[in-house]
Amino acid sequence: MEPMQCNVCATTLGDPIYSSETDYSLSSLCQVLETKASVYQCRCCGHIQSTELKNVTTFYDINYPILVSSEEEDQIYETIDGQPVFRTQHQVRTLVRKVKLDNQTLLLDFGCAKSSTIKALVTSGINIVPHAFDVSDRYVEFWRSFIRPENWAVYEPRPEWKHRFDLVTSFFSLEHIVEPSQAVQTISSLLKDGGALYGIVPNVFSNIADLIVVDHVNHFTASSLSHLLLSNGFGVEWIDSESHRGALVFMARCRGSTFPQKTETIPSTETVVQENTAALKIAEFWKSAGNRAREFEEACAGEPFAIYGAGFYGAFLASNLRHPERATCFVDQNPFLQNKQLMSRPIFSPDALPGHVHNLIVGLNPAHSKSIISNIAAFRARNLRYFFL
Ligand SMILES: [Zn+2]
Repeated sequence: MEPMQCNVCATTLGDPIYSSETDYSLSSLCQVLETKASVYQCRCCGHIQSTELKNVTTFYDINYPILVSSEEEDQIYETIDGQPVFRTQHQVRTLVRKVKLDNQTLLLDFGCAKSSTIKALVTSGINIVPHAFDVSDRYVEFWRSFIRPENWAVYEPRPEWKHRFDLVTSFFSLEHIVEPSQAVQTISSLLKDGGALYGIVPNVFSNIADLIVVDHVNHFTASSLSHLLLSNGFGVEWIDSESHRGALVFMARCRGSTFPQKTETIPSTETVVQENTAALKIAEFWKSAGNRAREFEEACAGEPFAIYGAGFYGAFLASNLRHPERATCFVDQNPFLQNKQLMSRPIFSPDALPGHVHNLIVGLNPAHSKSIISNIAAFRARNLRYFFL
């Protein structure tokens, strides 16, 4: 196999910092895929990257139905006083707070899927001129309600879009792109001189699950993100790790032909070493989680076991077992998951955990797992042996 190269700075990468031990990996939508994940880090620019999914084009065009089942479907970002704040809503608020927009702003949402953020922006009464671009035509029906047909493009940006836009937005898209430098160059060619790129990418240091989701080929660090932008025609205005939990929000300005080209792009060695060390720690956490789950599986020695948690952590632990098909069931308190299936195993409420199961693998964020389990009344009277992360 040819040595891997950094997607950002083309440095040859060393051995992986994480490799899945089983044949299964998780996608960012918690789908279990039959593929191995390997994660690498770059000692030059700090970038963290995963091996590309096979048939990656097909995977996105056909098999990546992010929230298309209904117009209103959205992910909850946080709950304030019992009221859910949806991710789209939060993204609109952050964009409006951070960027000056008016009814002349020619805005292109790049790699935009449904472009829900821009739709919500327009619906909230902020008048910009919206444009959309994606590599799949499955979203055209969503765009139709707020974008004029001549203002969207599928597969390739329109030729007449060269140097047209004031603002390009990219909401959770660059992490999927195998050649991010090319994408950023394309974006630069679509912007007016001095136009801005506003983007959001996951931040693996505040959302450690991002390291092992197999469809995120890029896990940007502050260093690798600035390197990407600086080396492809942009000046970096700011990178903000506070405004969106688990993500980096950034703003970069297209230097264009009339702006001086900056040559110094390599991030400081000290920062890169810090990022490398932090990434190794996260890789160690997941490696040890997988190993310990398999040890527990072995210790069950054929006795029935169940997996608590049908979300990311539960699916991760299940996909790391030698024989996940031997799990009696998953258990989850979320009524929307109950009576559905994960990895062909049923999902039950805690009350419905069959009486003959005495072993429970707890797949929850370790920061909260013990208190969550101790609050489940149905488990108190039972003689359960627990595995905690
Ligand atoms: Zn690099």
